[in-house]
Amino acid sequence: MQRLPPDNVNPLLEGSCHCGDVKLRLPSVPEKGTRCNCSICRRQGSVWAYYDFGTVSIDGHPQNTQEYIQGDRTLRTVRCKTCGCVTHWEPLDPAKHPQHGVNLNNFPPALLDQVKVRRFDGADTWTFIE
Ligand SMILES: [Zn+2]
Repeated sequence: MQRLPPDNVNPLLEGSCHCGDVKLRLPSVPEKGTRCNCSICRRQGSVWAYYDFGTVSIDGHPQNTQEYIQGDRTLRTVRCKTCGCVTHWEPLDPAKHPQHGVNLNNFPPALLDQVKVRRFDGADTWTFIE
């Protein structure tokens, strides 16, 4: 399904995986980005922004995506099945955890320039490092 953006959408809020099979549109410039050092995030190199579940428009999912579920099985990490870029994560039970994360590295670099990226110690203390 392809949805055309309304005329007034900030182009920085339009992102996609490398091949374009998965397209994302953020509802707003994120307040911050989070770079987490947990066992999966450090491997992916993702910079996460968090939004209320359902507020991010995601085209090409799930038909063009694969998922990975691990650990305490609260969320699925989603990647494009063609180019492999990690696009977002979403809760397995949105009623319990109505939030999802979007990987800001799929957006124009000028968006990240506007966002303060904080380091999160997801590997150990579960707190921001600075
Ligand atoms: Zn792709």
